[in-house]
Amino acid sequence: MQVFNSLTRRNEELKPLEGNEIRLYTCGPTVYNFAHIGNFRAYAFEDILRRVVQFDGMKIRQVMNLTDVDDKTIRGANAAGVALTDYTKTYKDAFFADLKKLNIQPAEVYPAATDHIPEMISLVSKLIEKGVAYKSDDGSVYFNVRKFPGYGKLAHIDFDHQQTGARCAADEYDKENVGDFALWKAWEESDGPVGWDSPWGRGRPGWHIECSAMSMKYLGETFDLHTGGIDNLFPHHENEIAQAEAATGKPFVKTWMHCAHLRVNGEKMSKSAGNFFTLRDLIEKGYTGREIRYVLINAHYRQGLNFAFSALEDARKALARIDACVERATDGEAPDWAKAHLDDFTAAVNDDLNMPKAFAALFELVRDTNAHGGGSVLGVFKRMDEVLGVIFFGKAEKAEVPAEIQALLDQRAEARKAKNWAESDRLRDEIAAAGWLVKDSREGQSVTKKA
Ligand SMILES: [Zn+2]
Repeated sequence: MQVFNSLTRRNEELKPLEGNEIRLYTCGPTVYNFAHIGNFRAYAFEDILRRVVQFDGMKIRQVMNLTDVDDKTIRGANAAGVALTDYTKTYKDAFFADLKKLNIQPAEVYPAATDHIPEMISLVSKLIEKGVAYKSDDGSVYFNVRKFPGYGKLAHIDFDHQQTGARCAADEYDKENVGDFALWKAWEESDGPVGWDSPWGRGRPGWHIECSAMSMKYLGETFDLHTGGIDNLFPHHENEIAQAEAATGKPFVKTWMHCAHLRVNGEKMSKSAGNFFTLRDLIEKGYTGREIRYVLINAHYRQGLNFAFSALEDARKALARIDACVERATDGEAPDWAKAHLDDFTAAVNDDLNMPKAFAALFELVRDTNAHGGGSVLGVFKRMDEVLGVIFFGKAEKAEVPAEIQALLDQRAEARKAKNWAESDRLRDEIAAAGWLVKDSREGQSVTKKA
C-alpha cells in the first residue's frame, strides 16, 4: 500500500515496523461540543485508512485520544456551571453515537486526557531534565523550540526567516507565531475548580503534550502512522514530534498523513455564515448516516471536499442504484469481468486511498452486473464493502427500524453493558413478539424483520 507521507512529502510503501500490525494514532475530538461534519471528514478518512490496512491482510491498532481538558472544555464547563467531567461526558457519549451512525469502526483504545495526567507530568519532567523545557515565573512550563534541532521538520519551517523566541500560552496558533509553547499551564482564576498538583504547582497540561504521552504509552516510543486534519499539522503535530523525540532520542512516527479541509457550499464552515453543521443537524434534515458517509468518503482525502446538499441527494440516488444491483447479485465464483473490477478497486485503494477511482470501479461493477442481468458477484460487492462500509446486503437491513423497536434495542444494549443477561433476554423476547429478530455479534446487536 502506497501512501503520501507529509513528513517526507513522498509516496511511500506503508508496511509495519514490527510484525504484521500497523500502529496508528489519530487525534480525536475535543469534547466541548457536538463534532461537526468537518471533524467527521477526518474520522471517515481514518476509518477508510484502517479498513484498507485490514483489507490488505494487516492488523491495526488504532489509538484515538479524547481531549477532555483544554481552553475550550474548561470555558464550556465553567460557563455551564458544571463539573468538567460531567460537561465532557455528554459530548463523549454523543461522539461515539455519531461514529456508529457513520459506520466508522471503533479504535482499539480511546484514552482520555484527564485519565493520563501522571504520564504527562512525567514526560514534562523528562523534558526539563533534558534541558529542552523550562519553568516560567508563573509556574508554567514551556518547551524551548531552539533547543530541539528538528523543530519545524514536519511543517517545513524555515527558521532563518522567522521571528522566534516569543512564548505562546494558547493551545492554537499559526506559523507566524512560532515560539516556545506551553507543556504545563499554571492555574489561573478562569480555570475555576479545574487543576492538578504537579512539581511546578497547581495547573493543567497544555494540549499538545497529551498526544505525545498517550500515543507512546499505547503504541511505543516509535510507531508506524499518525494522522489528523491538515489544520493539526502545525503547531500540534510539530509539537508532538518535538516533545516525543526530545524525550526519547528516537524517531517518533514513521509516516504522517493529513486530510484536507471540508468546505460547505464552497465556503469555509462557520456559525456566522450559517453553513455550520453537526452530524445531528443533517440527520434532523432527513439524511441518513449512510448517505453522509458516502459523501465524506467519496473525495480524495488530500483534496478539499465541498459538502453540498446536492451531493447528499446524489448519494441517495447512487446508493439506491447500488442497492438495486446488489439485489440481483448472487453467491458463487465471480466472473472474470467482475474480478477485473475488484482488481481495479484494490489497486485504487492501495494508491494513497484513491477513493474516486475505487468508486469508479464499484460503478463499473454495477453497470456490468446490470448489463448481464445479474451475476454471481455478491462476493465482490462484499469484498469492496470491507473498505467502503456503505453497501446494504439483504432486504431486511433496508427496512426502517421503528422508533419503539429502536428504544427497546437501546435498553437492551444498556442491559448488556451492565451484564444484566436476564433483562437482555427479556427484551429480546419483547422485540421478537413485535416481529423483529435480534442478532448479537462482535459489532453489537443488529435487527431484522421476521419474514
Ligand atoms: Zn493530537
